Amino acid sequence: MILFKKVEDLSSFLNSCRQQQQSIGFVPTMGALHAGHLSLIDKCRAENKIVCCSIFVNPTQFNNVNDLEHYPNTIEQDIELLIKHQCDVLFLPERDEVYPSQFDFKKFDLGGLEHIWEGKFRPGHFQGVCQVVDRLLQIVNPSSLYLGQKDLQQCLVIDKLLSETGRRNIKLSIEPTIREADGLAMSSRNLRLSTKERQAANEIYKALLYVKTSAGDTPLSHRVEEARTHLANKGFRLDYLAVVDANDLTETDDRSKTLVAIVAAYSGEIRLIDNLFLN
Ligand code: AMP
Repeated sequence: MILFKKVEDLSSFLNSCRQQQQSIGFVPTMGALHAGHLSLIDKCRAENKIVCCSIFVNPTQFNNVNDLEHYPNTIEQDIELLIKHQCDVLFLPERDEVYPSQFDFKKFDLGGLEHIWEGKFRPGHFQGVCQVVDRLLQIVNPSSLYLGQKDLQQCLVIDKLLSETGRRNIKLSIEPTIREADGLAMSSRNLRLSTKERQAANEIYKALLYVKTSAGDTPLSHRVEEARTHLANKGFRLDYLAVVDANDLTETDDRSKTLVAIVAAYSGEIRLIDNLFLN
């Protein structure tokens, strides 16, 4: 694996790959890699000649300074894991490389997705995500991009970004959520849970399963309400738990649509998100 810290060096390496008609798959991450990230690397490995991963904790997508300051850093272990999973290129830039002093911060049109759910509770978050993804796509210019369904709204936002920025030629792959044995969706933030919080954290997945297994005649809204109460009783502070149309994330209980239950909840200081398709 080659580690690049400078945009110029990475660009010239990837340009030569492109000249040789080599497909470039890209997996953007913020590090503290776990099996969820590695499933994206493995898929990317299976489908491309060159596997490029980036690790950059993007300050512009954090609306909470404490979250940014305490974001886990396990870079040495990350590098070992990437080598083991046959990643070819790691882009590990400093902040100035991604956002040079004359950087032109754009405003992206994300339609209704920007201000609902994650957008509502994390104002500015998706503009920050788009800033960094737009910049990384400009640098890496991949043939394929790999994202995790765990961040479903982010997937829809980036899909919109690809359209808005004329990058529909990039193939977008959305990969299933990888979970711990007890059902908790893997997340770098799980490292910050106390032992007690970690033990209880799978209640979030259980709540989603409860909504999913609701019998056909029970109104979904009842199950959703019960799941909210259950999580509150277990000590979680809910930002939202809802059933939405998977295509645009509007709230609905129309079972003829592709439905997904989405949740964001705090366990102590740590905010966890998850989702589960219902049909
Ligand atoms: P992050 O490092 O949190 O920015 O995540 C980088 C990529 O990994 C994003 O596309 C995430 O959706 C994806 N990802 C994070 N957690 C998981 C998971 N448990 N399963 C699958 N993909 C994941």
